[in-house]
Amino acid sequence: MIRARRVRVVATLGPASSQQDQILELHRAGADVFRINMSHADHRLMRSLVLRIRAVEDVVGSPVTILADLQGPKLRVGTFGEGPVTLANGAAFTLDADPRSGDASRVHLPHPQILRALQEGDRLLIDDGKVLLRVREASPKAARTEVVQGGEVSDRKGVSCPDTLIDVGAMTEKDRSDLDACLDAGCDWIALSFIQRPEDLAEARKVARGRAGILAKIEKPQAIERLDDIIDLADAVMVARGDLGVEAPLEAVPGLQKRITREARRAGKPVVVATQMLESMISSPVPTRAEVSDVATAVFEGADAVMLSAESAAGRYPAEAVTMMDRVARRVEEDPNYRAIALAQRVAPDATGSDALAAAARQIAETLGVGVIACYTTSGSTVQRMSRERPFSQILALCSRVDTARRLGIAWGVFCVVVPPCADVDEFIARAGAEVVDHGLGRTGDRLLAVAGVPLDIAGVTNLLQLAFVRSTDER
Ligand code: PEP
Repeated sequence: MIRARRVRVVATLGPASSQQDQILELHRAGADVFRINMSHADHRLMRSLVLRIRAVEDVVGSPVTILADLQGPKLRVGTFGEGPVTLANGAAFTLDADPRSGDASRVHLPHPQILRALQEGDRLLIDDGKVLLRVREASPKAARTEVVQGGEVSDRKGVSCPDTLIDVGAMTEKDRSDLDACLDAGCDWIALSFIQRPEDLAEARKVARGRAGILAKIEKPQAIERLDDIIDLADAVMVARGDLGVEAPLEAVPGLQKRITREARRAGKPVVVATQMLESMISSPVPTRAEVSDVATAVFEGADAVMLSAESAAGRYPAEAVTMMDRVARRVEEDPNYRAIALAQRVAPDATGSDALAAAARQIAETLGVGVIACYTTSGSTVQRMSRERPFSQILALCSRVDTARRLGIAWGVFCVVVPPCADVDEFIARAGAEVVDHGLGRTGDRLLAVAGVPLDIAGVTNLLQLAFVRSTDER
């Protein structure tokens, strides 16, 4: 199913969107990538979501991308016996080592390393900083706090400790077990949370052995300090503004978003802008003007994808939120300024064969007004370099491997079709022409640019750029 926009939409699944018909509805509304948040899903639920997404893939007849988001060393409170609690300003609230469910006076903090590290006077921020507590008395068993800024706290909300140095590794035991399960279930992307250093990607990459792309969530100031190296080692990145806005000053987030987006764009790694994009749509069918503007800014900036979190996972209007994102993205892409900004942000090709051919293909397509650049890809790397060029022509990726096609679903402007392996370039061009006609991208006799590595089906070389024509059925 071809979309009338280049930027991709990621929808997080949750209680409001876990059934197969709901997933299908979100896909029809415009969701290209489904995110499974492993902070809220056990293995059984994750596997059933994967099966439902794959069933939707069969219904729609085109590859659908699954992003499994590992919790990482995120610190969270435990659960509450009677549902969410409301903490009033000035009240006492204890976080302790007792695993029993909490209430309005206490909750379990299942991280002994925080309880050991907290000191009197330290701040604790809960749920992306919505609730602020200050430690009045600390011991390895309990931290007694005063509520400085009250609000509602529910099960497993995140805790940040901006004043406390906590010794946590890149992956927890839960992450390791989730990683194995998500890879076995066939997730296309694995997102790593709270990474601080490039080395934090190593373990997941080693375990994944190419079975999934590794996406680095940028949400800690320490990761910003090593941004270039992290982008270098990751397959994609996310501007995870929820935790970034807690860990760094809120007013620094827009600038960091720009910096991360631009650096990822320069490296040709897909970049996802996430969190609170249409937050008010959790409870309202219409977003605020500021939210619409926020989505538009990310699209103008050249993000590969924009993401919905609670809006699609737990909100009252999941399909409306996806539809709104789709509408905003399409409108931005039609705006004359979009092209001008895309041109201004174009990055120079690296000195590699695939970049040289991608840049040349884009230029030829613009000179001759060629509507489609068809790439034959095994690993997806040629297509990603083509996407980095941000051509105005449609990128049509012919993938002989379904896993490659699914993984490419996060990249800007790529339309993937899964095809049987082509024996030679002639067969690839004939096949590309057939796909152009079948998907309404052009007609017999139209020009077509073909990019591939010859011999086909061997990853790693891009060495062919051919100006061809869409052939008629008889000529194919
Ligand atoms: C974020 O912090 O912005 C984010 C996407 O991560 P999570 O939803 O896991 O908190």
